[in-house]
Amino acid sequence: MLLPVVALVGRPNVGKSTVFNRLVGERISIVEDLPGVTRDRIYATGKWLGRDYRLIDTGGIEMTDEPMMTQIRYQADIAMEEADVIVFMVNSQEGLTTEDEAIASYLHRTKKPVVLAVNKADNPEQRQTVYDFYALGLGDPIPVSGAHGTGFGDLLDEIVAHFPPEAEQVDDSQLIKFSFIGRPNVGKSSLVNALLEEKRVIVSNIEGTTREAVDTRFVDESGQEFTMIDTAGIRRRGKVYEKTEKYSVMRSLSAIERSDIVCVVLDAETGIREQDKHVAGYALESGKGIIILVNKWDTVENKEKVFDEFTQDIRSEFRFLSFAPILFVSAKTHQRLERLPDLLKEIHANQNRRIQSSTLNNVISDAVAMNPTPTDKGRRLKIYYATQVAVGPPTFVVFVNDVELMHFSYERYLENQLRQAFHFDGTPLKIIPRERQ
Ligand code: GDP
Ligand code: GDP
Repeated sequence: MLLPVVALVGRPNVGKSTVFNRLVGERISIVEDLPGVTRDRIYATGKWLGRDYRLIDTGGIEMTDEPMMTQIRYQADIAMEEADVIVFMVNSQEGLTTEDEAIASYLHRTKKPVVLAVNKADNPEQRQTVYDFYALGLGDPIPVSGAHGTGFGDLLDEIVAHFPPEAEQVDDSQLIKFSFIGRPNVGKSSLVNALLEEKRVIVSNIEGTTREAVDTRFVDESGQEFTMIDTAGIRRRGKVYEKTEKYSVMRSLSAIERSDIVCVVLDAETGIREQDKHVAGYALESGKGIIILVNKWDTVENKEKVFDEFTQDIRSEFRFLSFAPILFVSAKTHQRLERLPDLLKEIHANQNRRIQSSTLNNVISDAVAMNPTPTDKGRRLKIYYATQVAVGPPTFVVFVNDVELMHFSYERYLENQLRQAFHFDGTPLKIIPRERQ
């Protein structure tokens, strides 16, 4: 399902990132424990009145060596391209500036709804100044205070009012949606093209509802439908902001969000780079299915030796992705690309697998019998009962006497036992310990 996208634009220091944090709250992320993974707070999901949405802080997308107004203009471009609703933020304490006016006249070009947020309206006097901002011609200014957390109900009401109706969000649960993500030049767009040549039965190009994204839908011999998500500015190369790493990260995150399964593309010619780990970290955090594709396999000379080495490197560099199958392919020669649809189908089945409670609990009690639960200060972890509460990813709640006693290593052990008993290749699993009174 496509989530509505909200983008924040405005001059530096008006408080965009402060407001961003207010809107999405703090998120706990396992990725922060992984080495080499930095979190860019330019993109997150939020929720209001039961509606989920994606939020982008365009101010976080830095352009090097560009004058400030050019940067803001690019940021406004990104917002106009990506967003369903644009939130233009100004500063009540500084009042209306010529830069605000310039941004506003730029935003007037878009047909998309623009919501005007007046930040730093910390007290009643400052809230009075919002009337000055009617001059921007962007409708009612909404006073907020990122510092005090006030005004956000009104702001969110106004934002959500512009979302497309939920009924338009079609049920696409039968489709398998996937994308190629990776650092520049690993061969993502070549893979898209190669797969399109391979699979000539293209059903349609789906025009994005409000975005310009064009996804491609195709069917395989069995009649299974796939949607290949358009990734990472493949068609719009050349603009300055396309080349910035943060923008490419943002596009990856957007592709991941819309996918069931993410193909993390590596380059056999260059080997694993630091940036590959960031990309893999984002994929992991999303809970989506993952395949590791090693592309440009045609360039490798001593294939048998490199196959072993590359596999080992992947397993040691991406330890948290041990569940992800690895496929060595070439977009150039199409080697092994025909295997991708079957692999996607298998993973899709795995991530949607439901395990009966009785079967699940048999596996758990066998696991506990083989490897007794940990103890701490004389108390032993007791596992009463487990049940699967969700699919995509399969999520298991395990009822225990004390969640503190459920150590990470034992959770890992249980996960591995579940993986051995059932087919969960390519999908992460979630185990949630809960205390039973
Ligand atoms: P950005 O550059 O637009 O992302 O702005 P920041 O979120 O980094 O905020 C710039 C400065 O304004 C920081 O020092 C914030 O603490 C401050 N600030 C943000 N929101 C408010 C607010 O509502 N009231 C006041 N008084 N200061 C704020
Ligand atoms: P993207 O930035 O990840 O979309 O990468 P591109 O698809 O633009 O590919 C980057 C470069 O790698 C181009 O010059 C491609 O021709 C080349 N390339 C892509 N896939 C392969 C492959 O399988 N084998 C070889 N030899 N070159 C490839």
